[in-house]
Amino acid sequence: MGFDLLEPSEPPGPTPLARNRTRPVNGQRRCGCEALIEGPGWTDRPGWQTPMLTAMRYASPTTVAEAVDLLGSEPDARVYAGATDLIPQIRAGRPEPSAIIDLKRIERLCAISRNGSSFTVGAATPTADICAHDGLAAAFPGLVEASGLIGSDQIQSRSSWGGNLANASPAADTPPSLIVNDARAVIAGPDGERTVPAAEVATGPGATSLGPGELIVEFELDEPPARTADAYLRLIPRTEMDIAVVGAAARVTLDEGGRVSAAAVALGAVAPTVVRVPDAEAALDWQRALR
Ligand SMILES: Cc1cc2nc3c(=O)[nH]c(=O)nc-3n(C[C@H](O)[C@H](O)[C@H](O)COP(=O)(O)OP(=O)(O)OC[C@H]3O[C@@H](n4cnc5c(N)ncnc54)[C@H](O)[C@@H]3O)c2cc1C
Repeated sequence: MGFDLLEPSEPPGPTPLARNRTRPVNGQRRCGCEALIEGPGWTDRPGWQTPMLTAMRYASPTTVAEAVDLLGSEPDARVYAGATDLIPQIRAGRPEPSAIIDLKRIERLCAISRNGSSFTVGAATPTADICAHDGLAAAFPGLVEASGLIGSDQIQSRSSWGGNLANASPAADTPPSLIVNDARAVIAGPDGERTVPAAEVATGPGATSLGPGELIVEFELDEPPARTADAYLRLIPRTEMDIAVVGAAARVTLDEGGRVSAAAVALGAVAPTVVRVPDAEAALDWQRALR
């Protein structure tokens, strides 16, 4: 499995290739990454800045092993799922990968399954599929609500938890909810697979703990105990399609008397990475509050 040439061009101006791609052919846009690349940003209309195009190669592996091999063979390659973060960033000139690797053809990365008392969600699974999954919605209403806040329906048909977390924006909507639900990320790389708490993936704005050649394969979530629920609320300047000023995720478990016996609270957008709020957790949990 190797790379195909995707988008050759001659910087800095629009090439004939780029110019030809500014409008849909017969009113049709192809789906996937190419449609995003060929969108109206690549125009030579007056007043529009044409982004620098560099030759970029493309691969669409069908197994995790192939994806890891490809990533290892090309140090400047970037993986993507929905590309809803990656393509706007490439258009803006950062990053400038030599090759991009589409993860959406790997079945394991796009699957949702329930194994006994735990769920496994592929890292490239569209958030629209996550929102439509009854089992996930019943077990993790806040996490599913956070997933449903990402962009528009069009964005949700492509955006993923893996991309939301690995993009490492402090304001990303799903990481606080993944963290209060103790989600684990299964990571594959040249040395095999390892599992880490989702809380340990983002280490700062745009930075992760993923090593060279590593990618997130899936997320594992244990079914919550009885009388447990989570919630997510975000404050945004507009009514929708905006970035969180603060995102707050909480999960509480009640005891048989209806009192909070376990609580987790995490905030996004207020620090370089998601932060837990131990004082709020202790105040909610009556046993810890009495200690
Ligand atoms: C119009 C618009 C509105 C948006 N609104 C919101 C919003 O309300 N809330 C919000 O949180 N975000 C929002 N976003 C940002 C984006 O849609 C989300 O962050 C989305 O979840 C990213 O997922 P993706 O699959 O498209 O990521 P991609 O763009 O495919 O990837 C993002 C980054 O993660 C890396 N990556 C992707 N998958 C993996 C993997 N499996 N393993 C390792 N690295 C990986 C890529 O290399 C890249 O660096 C919006 C974006 C747009 C364009």
